[in-house]
Amino acid sequence: MSQTPPPLPPSEKLPSALWEQQAKEGNKAPRREMREFPCPNCGADLRFNPGAEAMKCTHCDTEVAVPHVDDEAAHEENDLRDQIANGQELETVETPSLNCTTCGASVEFDADEHSRLCPFCDSSIVADVTLQRSIVPQGLLPFSVQEKEAHERMYGWLESRWFAPSGMTSEAAQEHFSGVYVPTWTYDANTRTAYTGKRGVRTGTGKNRRTVWTRVSGTVNGSFDDVLVSGSQSVSVEFKDALAPWPLHSLETYQTEFLAGFRAENHTMGLEEGYAESQIFMHAKIRDWIKSDIGGDRQVITSSDTSYSDETFKHILLPVWITHYTLERTRYRMSVNGQTGKVYGQRPFSKRKLFAGALSGFVLMAVFGWLISISSGPNIGPYIYTKPALEPPTNEGSWFNDDG
Ligand SMILES: [Zn+2]
Ligand SMILES: [Zn+2]
Repeated sequence: MSQTPPPLPPSEKLPSALWEQQAKEGNKAPRREMREFPCPNCGADLRFNPGAEAMKCTHCDTEVAVPHVDDEAAHEENDLRDQIANGQELETVETPSLNCTTCGASVEFDADEHSRLCPFCDSSIVADVTLQRSIVPQGLLPFSVQEKEAHERMYGWLESRWFAPSGMTSEAAQEHFSGVYVPTWTYDANTRTAYTGKRGVRTGTGKNRRTVWTRVSGTVNGSFDDVLVSGSQSVSVEFKDALAPWPLHSLETYQTEFLAGFRAENHTMGLEEGYAESQIFMHAKIRDWIKSDIGGDRQVITSSDTSYSDETFKHILLPVWITHYTLERTRYRMSVNGQTGKVYGQRPFSKRKLFAGALSGFVLMAVFGWLISISSGPNIGPYIYTKPALEPPTNEGSWFNDDG
């Protein structure tokens, strides 16, 4: 450890033969993905240190602060219609990347990295590293959860699962996490929706119960703030629901220092495609607002026509720790929100525990059924959907990201 490698020129890519030669000579070859930030003390690589707003040397622990940049650019909303109509090129950068044929992710890799496992689906990628164009994000949420904490969060999550096989936690403990920045679109829009429909009001009791329908029409106005759409298909499910919310108020202006030692995924979903996806989400919310506006006990929407205005977007990166572990010859994926530590995972069920659980559940149901059969309770009629009380009952709706 007394031998320190010589400083490397920042942007120069060394051919792999040279790396190998250096390794043979006993020099500690710096890891390639961090070559852009050599340690001012020893020349080894600096790696962004989550939660510290600084990079830390992997060799001598020297810390170098990430230069402070105003976060205004990260939060700036861009005009969506203008962007689409004028086709103005978003700033792009070429990065050496691998395309995973299994899950479709495009992830930054150096040409001479030996391990080529896709961080998203864990399959080994046989394709060659090629230069790929990726949109430069305007902002990102830096990692604030350390890898060690991601591990601890994962244990806590695994141990709290019901019906988990014994040994699952110790299997998972042996795996390393990959820190990946996932490209994400955010969309804002104001909406105005004219609708026609029917309001159903229940009257009467018992056998006289019926629903009286009235034709209705109206308009609901809505506003959406930061509807998130993953810029790739690789983790979209985790993204939208399981790892949310994302504290978007902590967005930082994009700087490569935040990426030192981490991977970035390239976006594979374009701006318009992403917007179409966000509109599916908006549409579902608008239907809720219409039902609230119609009121009554039951609602039918016959037609709706939405116009969108003030549509804006941002392109950002979100931090995710990902790992995979094997149990009974099956690989399972775990992911941890790199900002909040929220865990989402796939986990196996123990057949033995499931059987025991099902058995006790079955006994309970049998007892419950017997109790019901001996009581002369009310005859439960067909299930009728009752509109829950929505607040406020108004023709205005708004939706915003939990933390945006
Ligand atoms: Zn150093
Ligand atoms: Zn993959």
